[in-house]
Amino acid sequence: MRENIDGHFLLIGLMAYPIRHSLSPKMQNIIYSKLDVPYVYLAFEVTQEKLPDAIKGLRALGLRGSAVSMPNKQLVCQYLDKLTPAVELIGACNTISNDDGVLTGYNTDGMGYMRSLKEAGVDVIGKKMTILGGGGAASAIAVQAALDGVKELAIFNQQDECFAKIVEIAKRINEKTACKATVYDLADKSQLCQQIAESTVLCNATGVGMKPLEGQSLITDPTMLRKELVVTDCIYSPRKTKLLEIAESQGCKTLNGIGMMLWQGHAQIKIWTGQDAPIDYVKEKMG
Ligand code: NAD
Repeated sequence: MRENIDGHFLLIGLMAYPIRHSLSPKMQNIIYSKLDVPYVYLAFEVTQEKLPDAIKGLRALGLRGSAVSMPNKQLVCQYLDKLTPAVELIGACNTISNDDGVLTGYNTDGMGYMRSLKEAGVDVIGKKMTILGGGGAASAIAVQAALDGVKELAIFNQQDECFAKIVEIAKRINEKTACKATVYDLADKSQLCQQIAESTVLCNATGVGMKPLEGQSLITDPTMLRKELVVTDCIYSPRKTKLLEIAESQGCKTLNGIGMMLWQGHAQIKIWTGQDAPIDYVKEKMG
């Protein structure tokens, strides 16, 4: 692929810190090669302090766009020209598109999650969903679900710094969309039982189930999961979390975080190149 690079290639960045461990550059460049489109994707170590200059650089050099990850997802919004309705509600952006000098901020995490449900034949539109977590992934999923037409969201978070933030996002969802979002304390087990019983989909959007909490699950009582419930986990390493193991033993349909990751990448590539990424090919290449 490198031998093909000429003066017409456009650069797409990834601004985050730390970032050298990221699999995104490999995944994105495999896709651009396969699609035979003139883009290259490179990771840049950008701290919060460097972010304003990095955005000026993006504009000056005419990058086609950039992915944005921690710690810059919230801060970056103030340096952009336009934000999608999802980004306005979430308050965080993970994708910048540079269209003739106009920078638009998108959030593709929720788009990826909702698309992964759809591709798996799960219909949650007009229904209720329970989300465990109130951090970045949970916020993006809740907002996109509300914008896509999920009728009701029951969001459970522990009493930590994320709680007040997700309460604020739920308030915005209730004001700006037709979806009814309620935030509960994760410690309220009877409410958790009731909300899951009324839901079509249960989504774990916490880190419980991956290192250093691998082997753990926020749901430990299998009887809380009836077989008609679809149980999803944003975690993709391990592929099968303890929660998904318990759900499978109850006969539930399960989905891990691979689909969310691949489809959010698909959404980014569509934004930057206008092309549909070959998802099956990427799955095969990334193993
Ligand atoms: P975050 O740090 O923003 O939020 C973490 C959330 O987990 C918070 O709600 C916090 O309260 C909760 N939490 C942490 N420890 C807990 C515990 N012991 N008990 C109960 N709740 C606990 O993180 P994030 O970016 O929202 O990521 C959450 C998960 O989603 C991670 O596992 C991450 O790998 C995964 N994720 C997957 C994708 C994907 O594409 N599949 C994308 C983003 C995030």
